Amino acid sequence: MHADILIKNSSILTPDFKISHDQNIVIKDQKIIAIEKELTQTYEAKEILDGKGKLVMPGLIDAHTHTNQQLLRGRISDEYPMIWTRIMVPFESNLREEDVAISAELSCLEMLKAGTTGFIDAGGSYMHKVAEAVEASGLRGVLTCSTMDTGAAIPDSMKTTIENNIQRNKDLFDSYHKAGDGRINIWYSLRSLITCTPELIQKVYETAHAAGTGMQTHMNEYTNEISYCLENFQMRPYEYLESLGVLDENFLGAHSILLSENEMDLIQKYDSKVVHCPISNAGKGFTKSPGLMQKGVSIGLGTDGSAHSGLSLFDQMKVFKSLMRAFWGVPIFDPVVMPSKNILEMATLGGAKAMLQEEQLGTLEVGKKADMILIDTDQPHIGPTHQLTNTLIESANSNDVSDVIVNGRMLMKNREVLTLDEEKIKYESKKAMDDLIVRAKI
Ligand SMILES: [Zn+2]
Repeated sequence: MHADILIKNSSILTPDFKISHDQNIVIKDQKIIAIEKELTQTYEAKEILDGKGKLVMPGLIDAHTHTNQQLLRGRISDEYPMIWTRIMVPFESNLREEDVAISAELSCLEMLKAGTTGFIDAGGSYMHKVAEAVEASGLRGVLTCSTMDTGAAIPDSMKTTIENNIQRNKDLFDSYHKAGDGRINIWYSLRSLITCTPELIQKVYETAHAAGTGMQTHMNEYTNEISYCLENFQMRPYEYLESLGVLDENFLGAHSILLSENEMDLIQKYDSKVVHCPISNAGKGFTKSPGLMQKGVSIGLGTDGSAHSGLSLFDQMKVFKSLMRAFWGVPIFDPVVMPSKNILEMATLGGAKAMLQEEQLGTLEVGKKADMILIDTDQPHIGPTHQLTNTLIESANSNDVSDVIVNGRMLMKNREVLTLDEEKIKYESKKAMDDLIVRAKI
């Protein structure tokens, strides 16, 4: 039988997040068609990969990132407030279409080299340029526009009417939803509760609901957001959204750090999804991840973009494990408060659920889309190991990803990205950053 890719004799991460050895994986027409120790039939594959010394695992999913902020790397750490008014606003309002294009290409390049096969962009400007970059890179992405219509700290140039906000996102939806062989999904979003009127929030929900697509926003990230909701509506952020009737299983709350018990119950009740961004969150509070896990809430992991951290989910997983142990584990002497296998699940299946695509993504299973990465385990910092799932969290890093496959197509082979011109992107993004610094005076 003909196939596209055959990976021979590899270890794999199973759907229950254990390691299984000496497996063969067959990929055809974008999908996994066989995972077997002994292949029951002969396959003639166009591409054969030797899986010896490799682990094949589902591609990592960055469930909250900002491709628009890639040219802000290294600029906001160790800065006093208000970073938003002093750096973010001049940066964002000076972004031009060509900056967004190169910024998105650089993001895709960095993600590919870090083993990220899919991502959810929190939304920005000129998102059609991001869609073009995703299409060209071969990655899978959820994209949306940045939506704002109010807020004292937002300059008028960054706000627009409810109608314009909706129309802009609708145009993106009409042009790119399900584009790139279905790899691109368009959602609707709110930048944050502070920058959206209740009328806009409801309109965004109605439009997303009618289109059968997802809706996301930054949630419970800052104390001033909680106090804004308490002062104006006498409710906490998730309670406020419930009162507007916009919480459901298609709602994704990025960060979700400062949660009350009632808000955790609401997330569970409506089967809404959350994403934690461990490195970014560490400056704002400790996520109540063990409590959410106990309630069965689906958690994904995100980087929050390269302004807040690199785009490596391996780094996020490592930091997350330490943060959870230090904050939740130590006071009650619980060394297993956040097991490695749960963290691996968040970075893969949790991300797939956040993307509303867990039927197709997130685990290596026959019938699912072939989105996977190969990790070179034959290295002194990885092998030998008693438990590879632990070592993946403790020692592995982005550079250990040797190959990337998305939608059944090889995107990176032996660390060479096949779909993007790495040298050109590095050169052009440096030039764009240098120009932007001058223009935005940051
Ligand atoms: Zn964010």
